[in-house]
Amino acid sequence: MKNTIGVLAVQGAFAEHIKALQKLNCHCIEIRKPSDLTDHSLDGLVLPGGESTVIGKLLRELALFEPLKDRIEAGLPVLGTCAGLILLAGQIAEDDTIHFGTMNMVARRNAYGRQLGSFQTAAEFDGCGTIPMVFIRAPYIESVGASVDILARVDHHIVAARQGNMVVTSFHPELTADLTVHQYFLSLVQHKAKTCIA
Ligand code: GLN
Repeated sequence: MKNTIGVLAVQGAFAEHIKALQKLNCHCIEIRKPSDLTDHSLDGLVLPGGESTVIGKLLRELALFEPLKDRIEAGLPVLGTCAGLILLAGQIAEDDTIHFGTMNMVARRNAYGRQLGSFQTAAEFDGCGTIPMVFIRAPYIESVGASVDILARVDHHIVAARQGNMVVTSFHPELTADLTVHQYFLSLVQHKAKTCIA
């Protein structure tokens, strides 16, 4: 059976997530309005990169905020990348804004500087080996609570983490050909032990 994954498609890099998930045999639904949530039974949700202030505003204007928050709180597996990480953060450093706020961590926006903050590197991802990581005006995770596992670090900064069914990366896994992060997310969706693509 194919997994049905909702990909928030109001702004940002959602098309690339859909391509990656389709390579892993998922059925993807673009989430743009509340009926996209009620018309489909989702096995997982992706919150893409983009601009978290814009996505947060659109979520509220499009009446998607509450239904998505309810589903995340009910345990729907969610992958948040870059701006998606910021949407899930329980706290944003030097910022009073909280969006979904479901993950016990402090995120810092534009943590690598606003203009020169885009770069590519490679680092170990939770025992799955070294994977390419593309950072675009990225946040990093400044601190995590006890319930959060750290999945990756770059230069001592936390760039990927997991709390229960929530996985976040400050980099953009959908912008490389490497499918490790999506595969990792799908292993949560399928309630399986962690799987790494060899
Ligand atoms: N800088 C963006 C923000 O603060 C995130 C950038 C991204 O998603 N690539 O929301």
